[in-house]
This record gives sequence, structure tokens and C-alpha cells, in this order.
Amino acid sequence: QMGGRGAGAPENSPLQIFVKAKKKINDIFVEIEDYVKDAVNYMHEIEKEQQILDEKSVRQAEEFVQKVHGIKDVLARDHMKVAFFGRTSNGKSSVINAMLRDKILPSGIGHTTNCFLQVEGSPSDEAYLVLEGSDQHCSVESVASLAHALCKEKLKESEMVRVYWPRNRCLLLRDDVVFVDSPGVDVTPNLDEWIDKHCLDADVFVLVANAESTLMVTEKNFFHKVSTKLSKPNIFILNNRWDASASEPEFLDQVRKQHQERAVDFLVKELKVCTPDEARERIFFISAKEALLARLAEQGQSPTATLAEGFQSRYFEFQDFERKFEECISKSAVKTKFEQHSQRGKYIASELRDVLDRLYLDAQHLRDDKLLQRKELHDKVNYTEQQLMVITQEMKQKIHHMVEDVEQRVSKALSE
Ligand code: GDP
Repeated sequence: QMGGRGAGAPENSPLQIFVKAKKKINDIFVEIEDYVKDAVNYMHEIEKEQQILDEKSVRQAEEFVQKVHGIKDVLARDHMKVAFFGRTSNGKSSVINAMLRDKILPSGIGHTTNCFLQVEGSPSDEAYLVLEGSDQHCSVESVASLAHALCKEKLKESEMVRVYWPRNRCLLLRDDVVFVDSPGVDVTPNLDEWIDKHCLDADVFVLVANAESTLMVTEKNFFHKVSTKLSKPNIFILNNRWDASASEPEFLDQVRKQHQERAVDFLVKELKVCTPDEARERIFFISAKEALLARLAEQGQSPTATLAEGFQSRYFEFQDFERKFEECISKSAVKTKFEQHSQRGKYIASELRDVLDRLYLDAQHLRDDKLLQRKELHDKVNYTEQQLMVITQEMKQKIHHMVEDVEQRVSKALSE
């Protein structure tokens, strides 16, 4: 069991927008598949008996079966992808763990993520990882073994390790959210390669910043790059380690205001990815470490921690982030992924309709031609009959005249 879920019960989670849309569009493609298959079978039957079908139309319709199949395959693999960026030790792994409600990714000193890590639901109940360029499943029992497995391998910073985690242990994984953790943007990466390899299909980006310092040029640069390659990426900014501010309550509001203003300016004026109102829904002050501890305690996995002043409001803000994040990612994924599928579905349906329309017209022409032929034949027969009648009539008269003539001549000869 998942324990209490702050962001609401699974059935009213905003992720359901995606989950339901995926089910619905899949059902539609099942119908389209039936329709296309029926049409192809019908064409094959006609092909045997009649000459009205051109080869091209039949092949075209057969290709639609393959296409629909391909779309259904892609659809089954469609997911919502979120990618986390920020400097080393800002708390990216901690945020992901808190959202997953479990210590899945190694975090802390000595466990800096030096490659890309993708966490997604495992198709089986097992936890395992797969290294880039390999399809070997390395089983992972625990975080310790995951960390160990990662250290053992010499991984390049742009390489991707996929972690498959049992779906039933986390709602977000069950609902097809895929998490990507990145090496710190401060490790002088080849940003272009990162973005091209791992980010172009991300629905949401989360910048994990350190609330104890201001946004760094390296962090900003990364998102400048992203927004040159993607139009209006969805970016959330988490000011993490906000618990540290609890020790200096006299500056709390002032510091928050300053961070908030700078982050809004960054999203609105520098990146131009949203309006000021939208930006305010994208910036949060949280403590990932506390949120994870609180959740582990809720699930009885760790003793109740002593939490710093203001924990409740930070935890509330973390849950608020999760809700806004879920809403954003599911809407964005529906739009970017399913819009394409529905365009293709519409195209296939209308092309197939054209093929069938042509077939119908050809059949109609054929019928008309046959009718016409029959009529012509009919007319010919009539004409001949008439001719025959005329001829016989003439013949009759001629014979009649001849007989009369002969009779006249005979009687004349007799009287002479
Ligand atoms: P990453 O390198 O960005 O993935 O950072 P990690 O998640 O590994 O975190 C680095 C260190 O910061 C770890 O020791 C965490 O426990 C700690 N940490 C993460 N989030 C917080 C937080 O909100 N508050 C505090 N005080 N420490 C945090």
C-alpha cells in the first residue's frame, strides 16, 4: 500500500487526464484497426471476382493495417517524461525520491549522479537496471546495490542508465510518469548533446535550485539552450533546501521575495516561456529532504523525524508543487503525443474512405456500362424484328401481286 497521498486519491489525480486519454485513444485505434481490416478483407474478396479494383488501392489499404499497428505500438509506449536539472548537490535525487516516496536514487556525498538516470515503471514486478547500449537486465535489490552498480561502471556523463522500478510501489510510475535525473549542470557538459539525446521529448523540466544561493549562470544557460530547441518548454523552479532558511526567520520573507522575483524574471523576461501569472504557479519553496523523511515516516519506514520550524508549510508547498506538476505534465503529454496520433488516425480513416469511394464509383460505372450494353442489344433486336416485319410485309405483297399477275395472265391465256 502507498500510505496517505497528499496530492489526493489516485482516481482524482490530474495524471488521470493522461491515463484516461491514453485508454480512449487506444480504444479508438482498436476500432480503426477493425475498420481497416474489414475493408481490406472486402477488397480481397472483390479482387478475386471482379476486375474493378486497381492493384494500387489494395496495396494502399494493406499499408494502412501496418500503419495502424505501428501507431498502436507507439501509443502503448507513450509516457509522460519529466527531466530534472540543477547543480550537483542541489537535491535533484532527493526531489525524485520524495516524489516516488522511496529512497530509489542514491543521494548525498559520494553519490553524485555522474550520468543520466531514468526511472520508469518495470513491466514485471522486479527492479532492475539497463545500461546504455545493452539489453542486459542487472537486478537491483536496494539503493545500496544501485549505487554500487553505478560506481562499478565507467559511465560517460551523457550516457543513460535506465532504472526499472516495480509499478505497484509508486503511483507516479504506475501512471506512466518517467523521471530523468541528470548530472549536475556544473560538470561542464556538452549541453547540446544532453538536450538532443535526453530532453527533446521531455514534457516538463524541473530546475532544482538551491534556496541558499541565487540562480547560477550555468543553470540559466542550460535552460536558454533548451528553449532554443523547444518552443515554450514547461519549466518548474524548485527552491530547495528551504528548511535552511528556518534558522534565520528574520530574513525569511525578504529572501523569498527576492528569489521569487528573480525566478519570475528568468521565466518571463529571459526565457519568455510564460506570463508572470503562470510563472507564479511554477515556482516553489520546498525541502525535498524533509518531504522524503516525512513520507518514509508515514509509511513506517523510518522513525518520525524531528523537523525544523515551518515544516508543515514547506511540506504543503511540496504537495502543491506535485499537484501543479501532475496537471501540467499530463496536459502537455496528451497534447504533444496524442495530437499526432489523432491526426494520423484521421488521415488514415479519410484516405481509406477515398479508396472505398473510388471503388464504389468504379462499380457503379461498370453497372451502368453493362446496362447500356444490354439496352443497345435490346434496341438492335427490336430493329431487326421491325425490319423483318417490313420485309415479310413487302414479300407478302410482292407474292400477292405476283399471284394476281400470274392468275390474270393465266385467265387471259385461257380466254384466248
Ligand atoms: P543531487 O546531486 O542534486 O542529486 O543532490 P542530492 O539529492 O544527492 O542531495 C545532496 C545532499 O543534500 C544530500 O545529502 C541530501 O540529503 C541533501 N539535501 C537534499 N535536499 C535537501 C533539503 O531540502 N534540505 C537539506 N537540508 N538538505 C537537503
